[in-house]
Amino acid sequence: MDDLKFGTRNKRGDWAPSARIEVAPLWSRPPQLGKILRWFPGYLWPWNAFHLATALAYWHFVVPDVETMKTLGWGWALRLYAVNAAAIFVMYGSIELFFYVRRVQGTRFKYNGKFPSEQPSDVFWFKSQNIDNFLRSFFFSIPLWTAVEVFMLWCFANGFVPWLSWADHPATLALLVLLAPAIHEVHFFLIHRLIHTPLLYKWIHSVHHNSVNPSPWSSLSMHPVEGFLYHAVVLWHLVIPSNPIVALFQLHIAGFGAVNGHIGFDKLEITEDSALDSHAYAHYLHHKYFEVNYGGDGVIPLDRWLGTWHDGSKDGDALMQARFEKKRARMNAKAARAPTPS
Ligand SMILES: [Zn+2]
Ligand SMILES: [Zn+2]
Repeated sequence: MDDLKFGTRNKRGDWAPSARIEVAPLWSRPPQLGKILRWFPGYLWPWNAFHLATALAYWHFVVPDVETMKTLGWGWALRLYAVNAAAIFVMYGSIELFFYVRRVQGTRFKYNGKFPSEQPSDVFWFKSQNIDNFLRSFFFSIPLWTAVEVFMLWCFANGFVPWLSWADHPATLALLVLLAPAIHEVHFFLIHRLIHTPLLYKWIHSVHHNSVNPSPWSSLSMHPVEGFLYHAVVLWHLVIPSNPIVALFQLHIAGFGAVNGHIGFDKLEITEDSALDSHAYAHYLHHKYFEVNYGGDGVIPLDRWLGTWHDGSKDGDALMQARFEKKRARMNAKAARAPTPS
């Protein structure tokens, strides 16, 4: 596909889409029903449908029976870890293999013209972004994902929290399935904004931001505190009456869905003239500019409401620069007020 029909490439080889990132039309006033109906299929397909399908597959083939889950045990916990790790290895690994190792589409639709393997850096373990990100994912984030998963299933199995059945509460559970991506976005925004405060950023979140040019392995490359907070989104299903399948769906939006923001390509070409939208640009801009787009891609547009939204356009850039300018002025004024040491 000709990516220049969809965007522009600068002298450094970085490609940017021409269309601005749109937040979900649910928030347009006056309401635009037609727009909402056109947007809705893309909300479900393909990514959220995939996460729901994997949640169902887990429930039927991976998660042990309720009797087993009443007792915490290494056996079923390690089995869950093995499946989570294998699934991430296959899913993230295939995107990495095709688009970053074999480079089947070269740099077409790639936001950053360079590949992480071409840029060794001291900030990474073994100076390699790929090795560093891979090890952090498999040794910290996926075990923490599994730990909250085991805890959630143990609570359901023991009846510590309400378990709504599909037979008795189909409408409530269907609504919860539709809301799960929105819950993810709000939870992610809140914990993400929290770890962007100066002290927590330095201590925790800088690990994730070492990858300025993210690739699939960067998705779950986090400090353990962030790895826990991120997957703790599933704990909302212990507070709101829910069902373990919906809770697994919530967890898969986090675990498998993390790759969306870090694919690095705007579109993954499937055939000569069809491609899969990655929805990666909003979070790519976050990795590039740090202080924009703390949330997802605008289902619940908290960034827009709070003034930190960057839609990828020149206007978005101007708004960001104006905000940075104000911040600099505030910091300079503060520094001027501080007593000078004698
Ligand atoms: Zn990220
Ligand atoms: Zn961040």
